[in-house]
Amino acid sequence: MLTLRTAVGELTRVGKTAEKRLARLGVRNAKDLLFYFPFRHEDYSRVVKIADLRDGESVTVKVRVELLANRRTPRKRKMLTEALVSDDSGSLRVVWFNQPFIARVLRPGDEIFLSGKARSDMLGQQFISPVYEKAGQATTTHTARLAPIYSLTGGLTQKQMRFLTSQIIGLADSIPEWLPEEISRRFDLTPLPRALRGIHFPADETDLRASAERLKFGELFLLQMRAELARQERSALQARCLEFKENEMKEFVDSLPFVLTKAQKVAAWEILRDLEKTAPMNRLLSGDVGSGKTVVAAMAMHSAVLNGHQAVLMAPTEILARQHYDSLCRLYSGLKLNVGLLTRSQAENFQFPISNFQFSKAKKCLLENIVNGLVDIAVGTHALLSAGVEFKNLGLVIVDEQHRFGVEQRRTMKEKGADVHFLSMTATPIPRSLALLTHGDLDLSVIDEMPPGRKKTITRLVEPLNRNKAYDFIRAQVKKGRQAFVICPLIEIKTEDNQYPTCLAGRQVSNIQPALPAGRYQISNLPCRQAGIKYPASDKKSVLNEYQKLSKDIFSDLSVGYLHGRMRPKEKEETMQKFRERKTDILVSTSVVEVGMDIPNASVMMIEGAERFGLAQLHQFRGRVGRAEHQSYCLLFTDTDASPALERMKFFEKENDGFKLAAKDLEMRGPGEVYGTEQSGLMNLRLAKLTDRDIIKKAREAAKMVSADLARYPLARRKFSQWEKGAHLE
Ligand code: ADP
Ligand code: MG
Repeated sequence: MLTLRTAVGELTRVGKTAEKRLARLGVRNAKDLLFYFPFRHEDYSRVVKIADLRDGESVTVKVRVELLANRRTPRKRKMLTEALVSDDSGSLRVVWFNQPFIARVLRPGDEIFLSGKARSDMLGQQFISPVYEKAGQATTTHTARLAPIYSLTGGLTQKQMRFLTSQIIGLADSIPEWLPEEISRRFDLTPLPRALRGIHFPADETDLRASAERLKFGELFLLQMRAELARQERSALQARCLEFKENEMKEFVDSLPFVLTKAQKVAAWEILRDLEKTAPMNRLLSGDVGSGKTVVAAMAMHSAVLNGHQAVLMAPTEILARQHYDSLCRLYSGLKLNVGLLTRSQAENFQFPISNFQFSKAKKCLLENIVNGLVDIAVGTHALLSAGVEFKNLGLVIVDEQHRFGVEQRRTMKEKGADVHFLSMTATPIPRSLALLTHGDLDLSVIDEMPPGRKKTITRLVEPLNRNKAYDFIRAQVKKGRQAFVICPLIEIKTEDNQYPTCLAGRQVSNIQPALPAGRYQISNLPCRQAGIKYPASDKKSVLNEYQKLSKDIFSDLSVGYLHGRMRPKEKEETMQKFRERKTDILVSTSVVEVGMDIPNASVMMIEGAERFGLAQLHQFRGRVGRAEHQSYCLLFTDTDASPALERMKFFEKENDGFKLAAKDLEMRGPGEVYGTEQSGLMNLRLAKLTDRDIIKKAREAAKMVSADLARYPLARRKFSQWEKGAHLE
């Protein structure tokens, strides 16, 4: 008997090959199939007479097959299936390419539906490769309806997928509705079983819209439930009340070498107010690259210290941790604040010179100082959360470039003291609408204004044949005393087979991939995307190859360095230090420079394989230059001619506003791609989109109602906890 657990292999017409292909989509059993939603529908619902066919319209005709035969084209020897079909209004020529089996499936005399677009030529109307289906059944699956279109990997066809789904669609009735009845009623939602049928095989547009709305609502409701419950939980916690000492704060601000922007002041004020509450702060500080988040963080930490508490600032990389340490020491130079730095390979303490000690000894000293409370502010990587570090009196934790402070981390911190106030900072500008959706448990501060006097970085997409001119330009900039970055998407390219990257640079650093068939892939249909690999890249630039080329051939008279994520921390630090001290003119790097690195003297950012990066990421790279008074340049290189990629880069050339870029990126690639699915909490959003504002609003309202009295809704509660565990059971 067919159940939700029935393996796809047991369905009619699924052989071993199809089974494997389905598995690649994550479809193993009937239930997976039921929940594998189409991403759009082709509207073949209009059934017309042949005489009424119009050029280019998607329609269906109901016809009789008159003649049907296969033949080969004389020159290219392609297989053609040609047919003549008719209804009582006229006749129509039909042609299919490379599907000779059609001549066995359809026979003269058959009544069939054909769906597609008609085209006229000298001989009248013609249908090219239409979808066909025999008439005479109770319902149609492929034609004369809104036909679902699934996103598929190679080898699977829409027809096959529809046929399979139609076999199991009846199982939709065995999926119980879990939304509370009053919610369904209040928001006028289609019951879940009907929505599941309707998302695959809608009766009409209205049915499709209602079905999609119910499913989106469910996804958004769960996301909002999580935020609501987290908020509830947090408001019950107790943190230290850190009083806003206005005079001292004013003194600190006056001591700065610049005047705070209005946006910085507002953000700082919001944060300092939060710190005065007893419920722990949970705030996201979002601001474009270079908008000056660090000084706002410094104010918050200063406030904690003024109240006799310690603060922590965590960065995603050692390089960034070091940089934060240096800037804090500078910012606090007039104060008696003691800042410490701890990473896997660095331990430093501003007021206690331990930098000449061996690492293990320095680390021991630092840890002692932290536990004694001699260190006011500890800067570091996530090493700071490891078991060995104890605080005397921790009050505030700030995390740079990580959007979410996990439950896990909160627990770790709690073991180290009370509930702390938490601030996270991001240079990925998150539009407010997305923040509400995915970070509903966080309060948001936005720095949407740049410090005055910054020059706009000039951005150009460079034609491949102008590559040498670009190199000349870099040389000229270096001669003027500037420095340049060259970003490559990969670390190295394996030479034995010289086909595939061994490792992807940056965020997706990952496994050596299984062999992929050669060829170009679109990101969307890549079979091994889960493995973190984007696509075969024989023609992609790698740091090590480019370094060889630039240091030996192009810029042999200049000093070139390289940087990537697989170097040892010490090597990385030395490389960075040399670049900072201008001992290196040009730094070839992977995306490890992406976040936050501050080299004010650099004025050129050259990006190879620019199509490989999202807009938000490109913007991060561009933010590495133009950080001082020098006019700066961002040069993009690509050898793709795919139009979406080019469109993205053209947009990037014109647009300098991080928020607008993020919005465009979201529109083009979706939040999962832009922010990473984990970060954005979007792994369970399959249908809902950022643009579903109305549904988002309703789902929030519903989540507020339900979470206020969860015990009353056992079904919704069970569903929520399953969802939290990552099971996407409906
Ligand atoms: P981000 O938001 O990217 O972390 P930073 O905090 O690193 O930016 O600031 C970038 C640069 O701008 C730093 O060199 C900092 O000293 C400087 N800066 C910050 N705020 C101001 C301001 N209000 N006026 C002028 N310069 C500022
Ligand atoms: Mg920063």
